[in-house]
Amino acid sequence: MNKELLLKNLRNIPDFPVPGIQFKDVSSLFKNPECLKEMSDALYELYKDKGITKVAGIESRGFVMAASLALRLGAGFVPIRKLGKLPAETITETYGKEYGHDTIEIHKDAIDENDVVLVHDDLLATGGTMLAAYNLVKKLNPKKAMINFLIELEGLKGRDVFPADAQIDCLLSLEGK
Ligand code: AMP
Repeated sequence: MNKELLLKNLRNIPDFPVPGIQFKDVSSLFKNPECLKEMSDALYELYKDKGITKVAGIESRGFVMAASLALRLGAGFVPIRKLGKLPAETITETYGKEYGHDTIEIHKDAIDENDVVLVHDDLLATGGTMLAAYNLVKKLNPKKAMINFLIELEGLKGRDVFPADAQIDCLLSLEGK
């Protein structure tokens, strides 16, 4: 994977959405056709032999690559959304994040015991969002669940919040917070 290409095109917005946050704007990668292809190919290579049947994406930046990866893998796409957006019966989790609190939910019938699930989001900061999403998916009893991010902010040590057996992969690891 061409990490330099991705790093060169990843826009950093200081103090967004609140002072002190260095916001990694993945829309600057999504809008660039070369970056989009690079990420899509890298994800496909990582997960093509893992037997994945569902890719779950976290609203909203997680939807982009989750849906395109699902299509390439011949898997289904499952949305994990903020409270009140999903129309059918759901289960929910509330969590703290780098800025504020949130509740996410998943449709109860989105995943079953025959599924191998990849849960994807754009970025790992403190890990709260993904841990809640991973917990939601696990409650639906899939055969296996794996975790993926485009970007990890290593300095925030988000990996530490996950169980030791969680399988976590990131395309880019950034040293800062
Ligand atoms: P966390 O739960 O702390 O791991 O936060 C991850 C979620 O918040 C992801 O959905 C990210 O899109 C978003 N997020 C948190 N911090 C940042 C950041 N510094 N840059 C971009 N997105 C962020």
